[in-house]
Amino acid sequence: MFIDVELSEEAKADAELAKRLEEACPVDIFAARDGRTEIARENLDECVLCELCLDASPPGAVRVVKLYDGGAALER
Ligand code: SF4
Repeated sequence: MFIDVELSEEAKADAELAKRLEEACPVDIFAARDGRTEIARENLDECVLCELCLDASPPGAVRVVKLYDGGAALER
């Protein structure tokens, strides 16, 4: 496991954001279920660091953490 993706509590419970994230991520790391955003943990290492999830989210909603790089994070 080299990548982790974290969501704020607000982001997890935001149905509209869940749909946007599901559409944005090219490797299906986000799933919209019952109005919530879930992380498909089995897909985490497919992350290509494209930042499309960050583009689709308000500031502070999503962090993409590079576990191999001392926990350096992509965030806005
Ligand atoms: S950086 Fe790209 S591949 Fe990684 S979780 Fe975000 S949208 Fe998906």
